[in-house]
Amino acid sequence: MSRVYNFSAGPSMLPEEVLKKAQEEMVEYGTSGMSVMEMSHRSKDYQAIIDEAEALVRELMNVPDNYKVLVLQGGGSTQFAMIPLNLAKKNKKADYVITGQWAKKAAEQAEKYITVNRVASSADKTFSYIPKLDKSAFSDDADYFYICYNNTIYGTRYTSLPDTDKPLIADISSCAMSEVIDVSKFGLLFAGAQKNLGPAGVTLVIVREDLIGDAMDITPIMLNYKTHADNGSMYNTPPTYAIYVLKLVLEWIKSKGGIAELQKINEAKAKILYDFLDSSKLFKGTVVPEDRSLMNAPFVTGDEEMDAKFIAAAKEAGFVNLKGHRTVGGMRASIYNAMPVEGVEKLVAFMKKFEEENA
Ligand SMILES: *Cc1c(COP(=O)(O)O)cnc(C)c1O
Repeated sequence: MSRVYNFSAGPSMLPEEVLKKAQEEMVEYGTSGMSVMEMSHRSKDYQAIIDEAEALVRELMNVPDNYKVLVLQGGGSTQFAMIPLNLAKKNKKADYVITGQWAKKAAEQAEKYITVNRVASSADKTFSYIPKLDKSAFSDDADYFYICYNNTIYGTRYTSLPDTDKPLIADISSCAMSEVIDVSKFGLLFAGAQKNLGPAGVTLVIVREDLIGDAMDITPIMLNYKTHADNGSMYNTPPTYAIYVLKLVLEWIKSKGGIAELQKINEAKAKILYDFLDSSKLFKGTVVPEDRSLMNAPFVTGDEEMDAKFIAAAKEAGFVNLKGHRTVGGMRASIYNAMPVEGVEKLVAFMKKFEEENA
């Protein structure tokens, strides 16, 4: 077996221990006589799996009791519609900070239903920084305030939260459980699992209870948080296997000492990479240092041919999926929880060698 170092932005690397555990349990789960994939979602065995997944999310993220933890389908992108439909019946208005494509898409989707006030944007410099916020631009009557916490494509992240008295909504698709987040500061958090939490197909939503139950009349049943909150995320058949693997990933996070421990490792990994980028004559990071993501590090050589040469050579050496997003070019190393320190050290050693050979 030869597993590569996979720097994909998502779907991305999963811990090898998780894959092996899934392999062990693939054909028969426990003494159930069947695979998790073949189980009724109404069975006792499956109920135990989904209950354990929820309990682990609550424990690891220290989720307060007045929040619901939901596992839904439709990816992060479906949340772009569910959020305005469910949270903005009152004033039909929300504030959005535009820090990249995912925030932009969320705002465009919300605009189908409500008035969107774009309070700030970093589009002027290709989203290479988190904009400073001017409170006078905030709407007094916004139903919520929306941010994308970690910008997967451009490699920025918030290090302090907007000063708003409205429910704060955050897309944490690419940073969930990579650093400690105080859930109580948010009205709603959501993450498509395929970046940092598991396989594609399941989306984690953590929502404050008082925000549930006042959806617009046009809201489809499947897009109403109340439907899923009232039914333990099993109104219809949930993505059973994806939730099972999510549970395995959560167990893995716990076995590593929890999110605070992973954060230390993630900070160390990011430092190795950014320190090298800051000292390199060939490669340079594209994000202002104070807003750099711990999870997604974009970088360039400034020469597209050299970028392509590097990406090809890296792939040959077992470092794959380093090509930047199609809208930015260059390179991007996504170094989620499952990427070991060793993977980043080896990548940096390879980049040094490449630099010497191509100076
Ligand atoms: C990947 C990603 C999304 C989209 O997720 P899907 O599950 O593909 O819909 C949304 N927001 C962020 C920050 C992402 O990284």
